Amino acid sequence: MARILYVPFDHLNFDFGVLKGADPASDVIAMVESQRMVTGRPWHKERLFFLIASARHFAAEARRRGFEVHYIQASSTIEGLKQIATNLVAESTFHCAEPSSFRQYQQLKDFGVEFVENDFFMTTRKHFFMWAERQKTFVMENFYRAQRVRLGVLVNGSDPEGGRWNYDSENRLPPPKNYVWPPYLLHERDVIDAEVAAELNFEPSKTWATTRAGALAQLDNFITNHLQSFGPYEDAIAEDNWALHHSLLSPYLNNGLLNAREVVEAAVVAYESGAIAIQSVEAFIRQIIGWREYIHGMYWFLGESYREQNQLSANRQLLPLFTDSSKTRMNCVRSVVSDIETRAWAHHIPRLMVLSNLALTTGVNPQEFLDWMRENFVDANEWVMVPNIIGMATHADGGTLMTKPYAAGGAYLNRMTQHCKGCAYDPKKRIGDDACPFTTLYWDFLDRHKDLFAKNHRMSQQIAGLNRLGDLHEVRARAASVINGLEQGII
Ligand code: SF4
Repeated sequence: MARILYVPFDHLNFDFGVLKGADPASDVIAMVESQRMVTGRPWHKERLFFLIASARHFAAEARRRGFEVHYIQASSTIEGLKQIATNLVAESTFHCAEPSSFRQYQQLKDFGVEFVENDFFMTTRKHFFMWAERQKTFVMENFYRAQRVRLGVLVNGSDPEGGRWNYDSENRLPPPKNYVWPPYLLHERDVIDAEVAAELNFEPSKTWATTRAGALAQLDNFITNHLQSFGPYEDAIAEDNWALHHSLLSPYLNNGLLNAREVVEAAVVAYESGAIAIQSVEAFIRQIIGWREYIHGMYWFLGESYREQNQLSANRQLLPLFTDSSKTRMNCVRSVVSDIETRAWAHHIPRLMVLSNLALTTGVNPQEFLDWMRENFVDANEWVMVPNIIGMATHADGGTLMTKPYAAGGAYLNRMTQHCKGCAYDPKKRIGDDACPFTTLYWDFLDRHKDLFAKNHRMSQQIAGLNRLGDLHEVRARAASVINGLEQGII
């Protein structure tokens, strides 16, 4: 009986998942480009291009390696698998690495697919559950330190390399002035890319590689040209550079073209050669074995219903500026949304402190915001976005993941971005026609939820600040007009 190895578009790797140890003489590969995936939602075309072109390149490589590959287009994944089963003469069983979302897991399970363990992460779901079940609060820092020791990364025995676990205080520099940013790779397009672009009726940017070779080149470019200065500027937002020293590796980690282990190893080898500062390598390793593994583990641990939480009762419709950068005069927001329109990506601080901050403080419905993030980011797998948006970005889980909401006014953005100088608004003002919407909305948000936040000792400073405001009536009035203006696309 033949094995049919189903490879979802986020498991594109011959050394991990269901293809580990696969044999072209006895195994057949199945891949499905489902219509649901392509047209089911208003996906960003850059994202679709990246996912589909990567999958088609992978199928071509599998054929080169001697596999019989059934890559088909179908109305849904299950319909595609049914067609593949019908086309095969011999009796066969489907196998797949554990899928990355609840929905796909259930669908494939109901279809009778047999699962092997998902090893696209360095922490198995079972291991993460064992950690989470022992915690009173799910503090990422605790998980991360245990990961460092468990995986033997940047540790000497059980002590941290460099003497400290955390270099965040050194890694909060504002964007530098008159700085020459190293160039990022541009990925040339081939026949497969051109075919996908034509089908999508779209001219993709050259930002994202669609092959393993391209992903490895991206990794090498990051290690060689960016890792050394990654840490200090990781939280900054520059006007003259959209990527700063960020790795741009998340799309490849999330579709399987790169594996977390090789990325960690490359960073550690560079550090051990003496070329990289500890605060930079630590900050990067934290993102991979800390945040990434933690978010993935929490997605499974918190369960399917976590996605629907809305504990701040935020029910505003998605603001027009999210789908059209011309619908705002807020310099920082317009710039970030415009970057996303171009290449379906922005780094973690624009995501958190600009986009999510705005959704949080205006009370946009968390599920609408989650859907928009899923649709518009090249690396936005369901498991990434659900905990990030419901827990971290919109505090819709009431604090299960993060002890306090990530709300900030214009002062923070004025320090960490270069956008305020050329903006129509003044980050220092909370009232008046030229008040920064973020500053007004920050206080209004605290005011709207002050009864709830007063019970949170980590919010006591903010609530004390709110209580000292002498112009709260004016702030409320300005906030109402800001929200109205944002809804009309004129603020
Ligand atoms: Fe953004 Fe406010 Fe600064 Fe304008 S003033 S760029 S809206 S933070």
